[in-house]
Amino acid sequence: MELTHIEHIGIAVKNLEEAIKYYEDVLGLKCYTIEEIRSQKTRTAFFKIGQTKIELLESTEPYGPIGRFIENKGEGIHHIAFAVNNLKDALKEAASKGIQLIDTESKKGGDNLEIAFLHPKSTRGVLTELCEQQKE
Ligand code: ZN
Repeated sequence: MELTHIEHIGIAVKNLEEAIKYYEDVLGLKCYTIEEIRSQKTRTAFFKIGQTKIELLESTEPYGPIGRFIENKGEGIHHIAFAVNNLKDALKEAASKGIQLIDTESKKGGDNLEIAFLHPKSTRGVLTELCEQQKE
């Protein structure tokens, strides 16, 4: 498959507002959108650094995926997201190469992205998101 760049790095945080303060006040980045992603039971905040972004993820429910992640591992890096031009084809290719997919169909992520996750069991321990920018 053809990856164009690292779209973002996803970071699980306990409290979105407090985490945003760190990224803005210490690192000097600017949060440009906060969205609730109901399908994933998260609230997300995005920051741009060049063509890459940081996505902060706060759980809206204790047993959502981010809530469980923090429960098990604490706050920290949750996933890496690669941009692809054709998400459907990329998923097909990954499946054909024996990669276990968490999402066999793409779904709506934050910041106007169509996304799908590959299982960390198949990706050397890194939860991997493939994403395609949606055209307005
Ligand atoms: Zn993400």
